[in-house]
Amino acid sequence: MLLEEHVSLRPYNTFGLNAQARYFARFASADELRQLLALPQVQAGPLLVLGGGSNLLLTQDFVGVVLKNEIKGLEIIGEDTDTHTALLRAGAGESWHGLVEYTLQEELSGVENLSLIPGTVGAAPLQNIGAYGAELQDTFERLEALEISTGALRVFTKQECGFGYRESVFKGPLKNQFIVTAVVLRLHRATARRPANVRYGAIQETLADLGIDSSEPTPST
Ligand SMILES: Cc1cc2nc3c(=O)[nH]c(=O)nc-3n(C[C@H](O)[C@H](O)[C@H](O)COP(=O)(O)OP(=O)(O)OC[C@H]3O[C@@H](n4cnc5c(N)ncnc54)[C@H](O)[C@@H]3O)c2cc1C
Repeated sequence: MLLEEHVSLRPYNTFGLNAQARYFARFASADELRQLLALPQVQAGPLLVLGGGSNLLLTQDFVGVVLKNEIKGLEIIGEDTDTHTALLRAGAGESWHGLVEYTLQEELSGVENLSLIPGTVGAAPLQNIGAYGAELQDTFERLEALEISTGALRVFTKQECGFGYRESVFKGPLKNQFIVTAVVLRLHRATARRPANVRYGAIQETLADLGIDSSEPTPST
């Protein structure tokens, strides 16, 4: 949680650009982040929150503070036997693809079409990540975020996130005001019995080429 000075961001962006951060720190919990937000260097701004660095083009040195999200944790926090769903809470610094793999191990479905999307769980709601006919909002329940100006924790429901196509309030009216610290998803139980979402054209074509009936694949296949 130390504030380092003049740190190369090369290892932290997928383009491998060698921009330098004037100040740099990692945080592994919401409490650590709150402490960092209170520091005068952070208050002075500008501030850049870094996830996996896969959607950033660092064309020049960053004159302010870069905070790297390393909040971990994947935990099933609830089960609903009526709807056959489970709630998964994920730390915002977890890898998104790691989360997808975890859901398949736990026989939960709903995010399998979003496998291999680079980046962290915390960045996923910002643009409502999507692929192959599925979007984050399909399974999204709520998120937790710290308000940058106050350090206060706020919970956002799906409705409050204002999701659209690669859109959310965090790219619009609330841009640069909150840092996502955790995301909760509602996923389906009984993976094997639930048909996979194969409506997307390219998936249908591939299945047809392979001679597979589109009612056959399960989320884990
Ligand atoms: C090869 C490739 C394929 C891709 N395919 C897809 C795809 O199929 N579908 C899709 O939707 N996207 C896709 N993307 C885009 C990318 O995967 C997403 O935008 C992803 O959510 C970025 O995550 P990240 O952790 O790397 O974010 P970063 O690049 O670290 O950050 C991106 C932005 O989000 C902000 N941010 C990051 N974490 C937080 C946080 N916790 N709280 C608040 N703000 C935060 C950052 O400040 C920055 O403004 C692809 C990108 C690449 C490079």
